[in-house]
Amino acid sequence: MKTLLIFIALFSSNSFADYLDRQERVVFAKKVIIATDAYTHLMMKKFNGIVDSYVSQVSAYKDVENTIKGLTITGHDGDFYYNFPLSAQYIDINGIPRGTLVIGGGPDRYTENPDLIPYSQETFVWVAEEFFQRFPQSRNKPAYRTWAGPFGFTRDRIPVADYISDNQNDKRVAAFVGSQGYGGSWCFLGGFLAAKMVSETNDVALKELMDQWIPPEHFSLTRFRNQKRAKKCSQL
Ligand SMILES: Cc1cc2nc3c(=O)[nH]c(=O)nc-3n(C[C@H](O)[C@H](O)[C@H](O)COP(=O)(O)OP(=O)(O)OC[C@H]3O[C@@H](n4cnc5c(N)ncnc54)[C@H](O)[C@@H]3O)c2cc1C
Repeated sequence: MKTLLIFIALFSSNSFADYLDRQERVVFAKKVIIATDAYTHLMMKKFNGIVDSYVSQVSAYKDVENTIKGLTITGHDGDFYYNFPLSAQYIDINGIPRGTLVIGGGPDRYTENPDLIPYSQETFVWVAEEFFQRFPQSRNKPAYRTWAGPFGFTRDRIPVADYISDNQNDKRVAAFVGSQGYGGSWCFLGGFLAAKMVSETNDVALKELMDQWIPPEHFSLTRFRNQKRAKKCSQL
């Protein structure tokens, strides 16, 4: 179902979680997985200050000499990263490996509204300077393109994988959110695990596996109790 949901409620009178979409139609579902990442706090106040929205901005430079082979390199506490996607790698006529360098991320910027994510010239310049420093042979090369998008950050950079009800026995709605800047790798596994979380199986082996993969002390919502509001990521 592709519909904008604006509110989620759990009704104890029956076994359904109820949703309200923008047209104010109630949608009923027995099991629900919330995977709304940067948008989660807009739908549920419970996530305010737990999964915050950040903007990441990335640039791409063509025909850069590939000095890092297949590596992805990170810096600045993980807010900055670069690599050469395999699809654009080639050897030039002089035998030099080249490709399109995808570089950026940081400093990731906090935003109240993930739908309003203006490009930042400061971030663009900051990324360009990092590029020129790390790839001096491409100094002053213009960027081929740049783009920005929102994603959800927890303050400890570990996703939340938990049930949203305060009632421990209520396992109808599970959230896997806050996959942070490297969630492109996480989100597939997250979907798989969240599906297992809402499944009604009593399989002991599966339960043990889940505790091993997503131990509650690291992934539950309760880890944020009594902690101060998230420290914002590095700002320019
Ligand atoms: C510029 C940029 C570069 C990135 N580069 C990398 C990278 O190189 N490697 C990497 O691993 N990760 C990268 N990431 C992070 C990665 O994209 C995210 O962590 C990942 O997409 C999170 O997946 P998700 O499924 O949890 O959330 P999303 O992909 O954000 O999906 C959330 C979905 O929920 C929908 N939604 C939200 N609110 C509602 C609502 N109320 N009702 C209905 N639907 C709703 C949204 O429309 C969206 O489709 C990058 C992110 C950005 C912004």
